[in-house]
Amino acid sequence: MYHDSINLKNLNKEYKGSSPELILRMTIEEMFKNKIAYVCSFGTESAVILHMISQIDSNFPVILINTNFLFKETIEYKNHLLQKLKLKNCKEIFPNNSDLVKNDKYGDLWKSNPDLCCNIRKVIPLKKELRNYQAWISGRKSFHKGERKLLKIFEVLNQKVVVNPLAFVNKSFIDSYFDFHKISKHPLFTKGYLSIGCINCTIKSSNVNDPRSGRWTNNIKTECGIHYSYKK
Ligand code: SF4
Repeated sequence: MYHDSINLKNLNKEYKGSSPELILRMTIEEMFKNKIAYVCSFGTESAVILHMISQIDSNFPVILINTNFLFKETIEYKNHLLQKLKLKNCKEIFPNNSDLVKNDKYGDLWKSNPDLCCNIRKVIPLKKELRNYQAWISGRKSFHKGERKLLKIFEVLNQKVVVNPLAFVNKSFIDSYFDFHKISKHPLFTKGYLSIGCINCTIKSSNVNDPRSGRWTNNIKTECGIHYSYKK
């Protein structure tokens, strides 16, 4: 549980305009020392925060939610980045087998009930893993539109502080960061995938100004649920 003395309103005011690096360093080394992790999709822009973390602590915990439906390119990219950035503490978490047997025996739940599929493959495993932490880092950005337009640097969700160091950066910041640090892109990025999740629910983005336009295109769904309050 996050500490009641943390005043989010003041924190957001204080760190508005601060660099992502400063926000990360302060939360990792001071505010949530040993009680914070980065929840990383190893998608198209994840390398930015991974690179920043590698400059602070190569042993910092990174969590990948492996739904068993990730692109093989995502796993290869994860292995490449971890090695390149010398990050030593990445943990993959998986859906609970009993949840799969009960709700998704044939692996096709995503077609009929994607919310439940995301719940058992992403939300529940992350909830369990986050018991070990007071706070977590997310790579969301407001320029990704949708609900993300309202992002703040610090939020509270399900009794945890969520730190969004990239909340206010723009696309050119991301592009320049990759170029300046010579970081390789996700192999699917050059094929037109601007935001990458599970194989079943990701296609090429239809609008370059809307990176998430290739996610859940046959559904009104726009988010997987890890950024929502837990259902009672
Ligand atoms: S993104 Fe699709 S396949 Fe992946 S967990 Fe959610 S509904 Fe299931």
